Amino acid sequence: MAAAPPLRRTDSARGEFSPLKHFVVAKKKISDVFDQLLGYVNETSEFVEKTCTNKALENIASEDQKLEIQAYADKLTIIKEVLARRHMKVAFFGRTSNGKSTVVNAMLRDRVLPSGIGHTTNCFLSVEGTDDDKAFLKTEGSDEEKSIKTVNQLAHALHMDESLDAGCLVRVFWPKTKCALLRDDLVLVDSPGTDVTSQLDSWIDKFCLDADVFVLVANSESTLMNTEKHFFHKVNERLSKPNIFILNNRWDASANEPEYMEDVRKQHTDRCVNFLVEELKVVDREQAPNRIFFVSAKEVLNSRMQRAQGMPETGGALAEGFQERLKEFQNFERRFEECISQSAVKTKFEQHTIRAKQITEKVKSIMDAINIEAAEKRVAALEDREYQMDRLEFVKNQLNLLIDDIKKKIKAISEDVESKVSNAMGEEICRLHVIVEEFHTDFHPSTHVLKLYKSELLSHVEEGMGKNLAFRCSDAVNASVQSSQQYMIESMLPLLPSAVQGQIHMLVPSRKFDLSYDLNCATLCSDFQENIEFQFSLGWTALVHRFLGSVNAQKALKLMDQSLQTSRPALPLARTPSSGPPSTTAPPNQETALMTQEDLMVAMATNVASLTSRTSMSVIVVGGVVWRTVGWRLIALSASLYGLLYLYERLTWTTKAKERTLKRQFVDYATEKLQLIVSFTSANCSHQVQQEMATTFARLCQQVDQTQTELEAEIHRLTAKIDQLEMVQSHSKSLRHKATDLEKELEEFTKQYLQPQ
Ligand code: GDP
Repeated sequence: MAAAPPLRRTDSARGEFSPLKHFVVAKKKISDVFDQLLGYVNETSEFVEKTCTNKALENIASEDQKLEIQAYADKLTIIKEVLARRHMKVAFFGRTSNGKSTVVNAMLRDRVLPSGIGHTTNCFLSVEGTDDDKAFLKTEGSDEEKSIKTVNQLAHALHMDESLDAGCLVRVFWPKTKCALLRDDLVLVDSPGTDVTSQLDSWIDKFCLDADVFVLVANSESTLMNTEKHFFHKVNERLSKPNIFILNNRWDASANEPEYMEDVRKQHTDRCVNFLVEELKVVDREQAPNRIFFVSAKEVLNSRMQRAQGMPETGGALAEGFQERLKEFQNFERRFEECISQSAVKTKFEQHTIRAKQITEKVKSIMDAINIEAAEKRVAALEDREYQMDRLEFVKNQLNLLIDDIKKKIKAISEDVESKVSNAMGEEICRLHVIVEEFHTDFHPSTHVLKLYKSELLSHVEEGMGKNLAFRCSDAVNASVQSSQQYMIESMLPLLPSAVQGQIHMLVPSRKFDLSYDLNCATLCSDFQENIEFQFSLGWTALVHRFLGSVNAQKALKLMDQSLQTSRPALPLARTPSSGPPSTTAPPNQETALMTQEDLMVAMATNVASLTSRTSMSVIVVGGVVWRTVGWRLIALSASLYGLLYLYERLTWTTKAKERTLKRQFVDYATEKLQLIVSFTSANCSHQVQQEMATTFARLCQQVDQTQTELEAEIHRLTAKIDQLEMVQSHSKSLRHKATDLEKELEEFTKQYLQPQ
């Protein structure tokens, strides 16, 4: 056995194109398809998982879909492994010594199984191919590979192994290199003999349910036994239409009685046909003869062994009719191979092919669902993006228009406020004396009290004028500011997102807008210098005033003071506060100094000349007449009158009078000063309004800017989403196409291997 010669492929029944190849090729094909299918399902699983976890895609693929596909991948992995282990299986049954082992050996072209010694054990013996160079066996429940070198050794091993129970399986692994049948994924199972067991049911469960073909090895020297028939009835109950072949073995014995041969053959054939067609109903009457053969396994084995050893196959020991029997055996082999490969392809691959189609269909429908979902989401995102882009365009254009409009509005309202404040101030300046008159506090000409008095007076004027101005302007200005702000809000409102629209009031100050007039009287009138020294109305100063006019008189008087106090430097009268209104006080002393005495003299001369020219001459004339008529009495009267007048004026020069004088002087002074700051103050108020409006507008604009930024970000996000959705769409589409391709392959496989030819 160990020294088995290399296999020669000259036997016509075992050509290169054995029908068994049908199974081998189909297995390879379906395994390839499952490989591709598994790869495909793994790819889809990865795609679905990626799509599922991408939050931006808003659950285009569901968790359930992901799990479903993963389950398919697991299922396919298992099927793939099962497919790899798939083989064709033929089981030999028959009574002991009918020649089952010899048939197996004849088919394997070698003495693989022991024969002729009766079945040594109650075990099943399976023969399958191994890629190893050496044969070995494995007993049930053990992974130990027991090396076998000769068939006798095997027989001995089986005989000696007491651990082997009845009905257990001993697997013989035979090198594939030695046997073509084994290369083609065929497993041959030899049974202990249908006559030796009562455990038919357990046998069938254990060894027959996955068998593709059953070969009943009968003895042509006797009729079919009931034990044999009984077994196949049982098999037939468990399997639908099992493939059964009947080999009437030991047909060489019939050569001894050639005269009865035909009758015997017919008798056997009828019984066998009857058994298969009538009793078991596993085959048609027309097909039945193709399942019944008359052979001599012993002869075939011998001749094949001899041929393998290079000896003539028809040795002298062969009985007559050997060639026919050999042919019939080969015929059996061919039929058997056709049958088993067709059957095995169907039973071993059909269910898996159907399952694969179902999985492909399911995955395809998931891809479709994802594709549709992505398409819908993409359309929605495109619409959304278009809307956002339109809105952005609208906001941009509208904002530009509004900026111009609102700028004009702010300008108009500022100008309006300016003129309002200007008018109000003019009126208030005219009414300044009323405010000053309303001021009452302790007055005393002493420097200390006077200083306090003036400062309080200034505060009073500031406050009074402020109040009056506010009374005149503030309400109107406030209303106008508020209405303009309202206008701004209403104009800008449509440019803001609805979430911000509700909070718009928070952007605009809810407080009442109050103008600050900020007259700054204290600084403005800091130069005010009252003159509450007693002055006789007919005194020298007063007369100078009367003759020269108040301006020239002041100059003249100052000049005189200067000449009296040449050593003392003149104090600056003007002030130039940085923030106050422009100083317009009387020219400083330096300026006065520049006023030449000539100017003064010219003025005096002019006045004197005027006096001379107009009334003086008449007075002198009248005076001369009066002098002459009245004389010294008049002079004395005049002098006393002058004195009395002086006395009167001196006595009435009370503190009250001084206060009045101060107030009057102050009114004159402040009027002059305030008039100078009318335009400044009104401009300042206008500026405040402008500032207020601009601030509000800026806040609104900032909000619109933010809206624009948000819109741009949203558009950007939507673009990215659309791109991703497009990718998902195209990926799901290509995966769907792949599924269709795989379906085609499965369909092709079905057509080629599973549908009846
Ligand atoms: P098994 O118990 O059914 O496996 O039968 P075996 O294969 O062990 O064969 C029993 C005996 O029958 C052996 O001695 C074989 O040589 C012999 N035998 C098998 N087949 C034939 C055959 O076709 N013709 C003859 N004459 N003897 C055979």
